Amino acid sequence: MPSPIAFVSRMTVETEAVWKQALRAAMPQEEILSFSELSDSQKQAVDFAIVANPDPADIAALPGLTWIHSLWAGVERLVLELGEKAPPIVRLKDPELSRVMAEAVLAWTYYLQRNMPAYRENQEKALWQELDYRHPGEMTIGLLGLGALGTAAAERLTQAGFNVAGWSRSEKAIAGVETLKGEDGLRALLEKSDILVCLVPLTDATRGLLDAGRLAMMKHGAALINFARGAVIVADDLLAAFDSGRISHAVLDVFEQEPLPTASPFWRHPKATVLPHISAPTSRESSARIVAGNVRAWRQTGSLPETVDMIRGY
Ligand code: NAP
Repeated sequence: MPSPIAFVSRMTVETEAVWKQALRAAMPQEEILSFSELSDSQKQAVDFAIVANPDPADIAALPGLTWIHSLWAGVERLVLELGEKAPPIVRLKDPELSRVMAEAVLAWTYYLQRNMPAYRENQEKALWQELDYRHPGEMTIGLLGLGALGTAAAERLTQAGFNVAGWSRSEKAIAGVETLKGEDGLRALLEKSDILVCLVPLTDATRGLLDAGRLAMMKHGAALINFARGAVIVADDLLAAFDSGRISHAVLDVFEQEPLPTASPFWRHPKATVLPHISAPTSRESSARIVAGNVRAWRQTGSLPETVDMIRGY
C-alpha cells in the first residue's frame, strides 16, 4: 500500500479543496491529503508531494520526499525558497497551458500591431483619426525564451504572418523562426524587434535582463510584452524608456510585487497596459491530468519526467 500523496500549498482551504477534487478525479486510486490532514507518522512516510507555492517549513517537515510536482509552470519562487535542500522538482509542462499562452501572445501582439493603445487615447479625446496599418509581414516579433511557452507562441505568430525571431540559451531549430543565442544573439534580437515578448524564467542570469543598456538597443518606438516575471525588466529603466520614446507601449502581466501596489506609476501610465497575471491561467483539469500521468508512470516504472536544474534555476 503506497503512502498518501501530500498536497502542500499556501492556498485557502476552499481553493485547496477544489484542487484536491480535480486531482482525485484524475487519479482515483491515490490517497491525496492536505499537509494539515497528515498524521505525524504519515508525514514521516510520505514520499511524494504535489505543491503550489508551498511553505518551505511544510516541505522540510516531510523528510521522506523523493520528488515533488509543482502545479505551476513557473518554479522561480519554489527554487528560491527551497534552495539546494529541495527534493527533485518536476514542473508543470502542459500543452494546454502553452496553447493559452500562445493565444495571449497573439492577442496582445494584435493589440499593439493594430494600435489599440493609441486609439484608446484618441477615444478619450474624442479624436477621429486613422493611424497607419502595419502588415504582420512588415513586423518582427522577438521572443525572449524559446521553451514550452515561447515555442508555442513562435508557431502561432508565424502562422499569423509575423516575422519571428527568438532567443534561448541553447541552440534551437524551429521552422520559419530565426533562432539566436548568446550576448550577440540578444543584441541582434533587440535591434530587430518591433514587439519584444518576454518568456524567459526568472533566474540569476535573467534578473534585470532588460535594463537601460539593453532597452537602448531596441528600435525607437518598439513595444514590449512581459508575460514572464516582473524582475526580468528593471521597472525604473522601463519608465525612463517610456519618457525617451524608446518604448512606445508595454503590456505588463507580471510585476516584482503582486498584486501591483496601487501607488505604482504603471497603473496610470498611458504607455502601460496592466494585467493581473492572467496571460496563461493554469487549467485545473488539464493540469491534474498531466500530474496524474506523471504519477502513474512513476508508480509503474520509478522514472521521473525532466526535473528542474537547481543550478540553472529553471
Ligand atoms: P521553459 O520551457 O523552461 O523555457 C525557458 C526558455 O528560456 C528556454 O528556451 C530557455 O533556453 C530560455 N532561457 C532561460 N534562461 C536563459 C538565459 N539565461 N539566456 C537565454 N535563454 C534563456 O519555460 P516555459 O514553460 O516556456 O515558461 C517560461 C516562463 O513563463 C516561466 O518560467 C514563468 O516565469 C512564465 N510563466 C508565466 C505565466 C503567466 O501567466 N504570466 C504562466 C506560466 C509561465 P533553453 O531552451 O536553451 O533552455
